[in-house]
Amino acid sequence: MEALCKNPKLDLEGALIARDRVGIQDFVLLDAFTSENAFLENLKKRFSEDLIYTYIGTLLVSVNPYKNLDIYNQKQMDFYMGVNFFELPPHIYALADNAYHTMLTEYNNHFILISGESGAGKTEASKKILQYYAVSCPSSAILDTVRDRMLMSNPVLEAFGNAKTLKNDNSSRFGKYMDIQFDHEGEAVGGHILSYLLEKSRVVHQNHGERNFHVFYQLIEGGEEDLVRQLGLEKSWQHYKYLAQGECSQVGSINDKNDWKTMRNALSVIDFDKSDIEHLFGIIASVLHLGNVHFEADSQGHASLLGHAELRWVSKLLSVNVQVLHEALTFRKFEAKSDEVLSPFTVDNAIYARDALAKAIYGRTFNWLVNRINQSLENQDSSRKTVIGLLDIYGFEVFHVNSFEQFCINYCNEKLQQLFIQLTLKAEQEEYEAEGIGWEPVQFFNNKIICDLVEERHRGIIAVLDEECLRPGDATDLTFLEKLEEKMGHHPHFVTHMLADKSTRRTLERGDFRLLHYAGEVTYCVVGKRPPLTLTPLHLPASGFIDKNNDLLYRNIKEVMHNSKNFIVRECFPSTETESRRRPETVATQFKNSLQKLTEILMAKEPWYVRCLKSNENKRPGHFDDTLVRHQVKYLGLMEHLRVRRAGFAYRRRYEVFLKRYKPLCPATWPHWRGVPAEGVAKLVEHLGYKPDEYKMGRFIKGYMTRGEAKTTDNSEYL
Ligand code: ATP
Ligand code: MG
Repeated sequence: MEALCKNPKLDLEGALIARDRVGIQDFVLLDAFTSENAFLENLKKRFSEDLIYTYIGTLLVSVNPYKNLDIYNQKQMDFYMGVNFFELPPHIYALADNAYHTMLTEYNNHFILISGESGAGKTEASKKILQYYAVSCPSSAILDTVRDRMLMSNPVLEAFGNAKTLKNDNSSRFGKYMDIQFDHEGEAVGGHILSYLLEKSRVVHQNHGERNFHVFYQLIEGGEEDLVRQLGLEKSWQHYKYLAQGECSQVGSINDKNDWKTMRNALSVIDFDKSDIEHLFGIIASVLHLGNVHFEADSQGHASLLGHAELRWVSKLLSVNVQVLHEALTFRKFEAKSDEVLSPFTVDNAIYARDALAKAIYGRTFNWLVNRINQSLENQDSSRKTVIGLLDIYGFEVFHVNSFEQFCINYCNEKLQQLFIQLTLKAEQEEYEAEGIGWEPVQFFNNKIICDLVEERHRGIIAVLDEECLRPGDATDLTFLEKLEEKMGHHPHFVTHMLADKSTRRTLERGDFRLLHYAGEVTYCVVGKRPPLTLTPLHLPASGFIDKNNDLLYRNIKEVMHNSKNFIVRECFPSTETESRRRPETVATQFKNSLQKLTEILMAKEPWYVRCLKSNENKRPGHFDDTLVRHQVKYLGLMEHLRVRRAGFAYRRRYEVFLKRYKPLCPATWPHWRGVPAEGVAKLVEHLGYKPDEYKMGRFIKGYMTRGEAKTTDNSEYL
């Protein structure tokens, strides 16, 4: 046997195809799989054999195995390189490879949309794709540097932007879109990252069982003795208020010490020098010290600093004057006529200012980091490039208590589901209509109604929230909720305590609203955990929607930061901001606009899809929870996608192109057809004896070409 098999690929292929008899590797191929039960049965059967990937046409379904499989290695990469999609068992490498080769042959831009709920495996999938390109694309010595930097951007951004949540030990708390740029030879020559709304409230607050961003623990656990001493840190995360709230002890799947080493090494590869690193970790440590700055009320009820040591460390690490910082955290500065008036904070005000500063420093440093990585990935050569964009965002999530952050994350997921619907289900079906071809419509839930509910101008939830945020006077989280009730009252996807029927009312608190998302219902707590506080002219803190959307940072605090001698801090707080009198856009509006831009970026490219499914809620290796997977299959619209794919004609070409390719097959069209191309095609198919239900001809005038899948499972030709 061995002697006969000269090509090792064939050996491996044979073995894998044999294994693949367990279940079907492409749902489109078999009639039996149009029922949901059969679909799930097939997924489960394959999953039990560690076959986590299955196709629906060119869409890749991936089920998280929660265990390491020996399918991501050099041998597998070689196996998939340059091989057509359907010749081998489904794999994330096959999708990556086909996107790459289509890009090279068609010389156009592509993107890979990776979606699924929190913990489904999106980030892992995106890393596998990036590794595939890094290893399998041709490269030169210079480009090796770019390639390494691209790979190394992952551990850095994960350290600063990921955290343990109740859903996922390595949950992305920011959205990431990365363009990988290729030259005409197919070499990866550069990259660019866009990041979306980091969940910076995590810096100052974590729910029980959750952690702050990984980097804090990495620094404390793995930081070298000297460094930790220079930063004035204790070697115990319990010592820090910003780390201890979640009471989340060591996490089995995380090794902070090793991750620190990886991250430090990655920073060097990305070309961070000693000074960058010193300043960067100075900032991280300053946030920890800031969390331990406490206040008490003096005899007049004003905030007074409790102990000065922590604040001294903050000012040292941020290189700002300690007196000025002290003042900015305990007084608010007003301008009255030409004078500046200082108004003392209460303890609540001071805590609010402190936390706002911690969030701002961290959030802005994260953005600085992304920019810095982008500089190191920048390609200097201005010749035209094609790109493959990788989109890995935070997945849909539902917790016991959901706040503004979950609202933004889930809205983002709605937008991506809408994009998927538009590009697949809707566009595909509309095309048949436009071509005048008979089509039995496939019903699907179009979540546009939910996107509109959130984002519509003047009427959507974000518009109402902004209106309340900008309204001077007595706007509170509860007045925001009342406005929502007034405006959204009868919307089928919106409900509050007041609007609910008797049975639903029991499940809702007065300060909540519930949205019926495409992926399930989520109850959002508008007022946050703390009760709404009475308002004073200084706008007292409450961790509700209004506060989080306003994301207010007092101007005198910004001024202090702008005067910092730490160059990163100074860059993060530019003078333009402190000088500007204009109110910055609210967080939700900025996010909405950035998602709109992202949609435009994606719409201009050719799509590929990876739909990740979570196999179970407990991260149990190899366990397949039928109910949970069924729910995801439903809301991701996988059955509808399959039905459209199966009912559609897989191969489609413009009349001229078809004729050019096949005219030798018919005497009437060979060597030349001088008439209308469509009529020539009609002659050709008649001559070939195609049956009427094996092909369809679209409208003549329009000419025709869609984003077809280069795959025929029968003789059908959709011309
Ligand atoms: P979030 O939306 O919270 O960021 P996510 O979809 O990005 O979630 P991942 O972080 O990619 O989820 O995956 C969660 C965990 O599941 C990983 O840390 C890993 O333990 C496991 N996992 C995911 N995909 C795979 C895979 N292909 N093989 C083995 N384990 C996996
Ligand atoms: Mg992720």
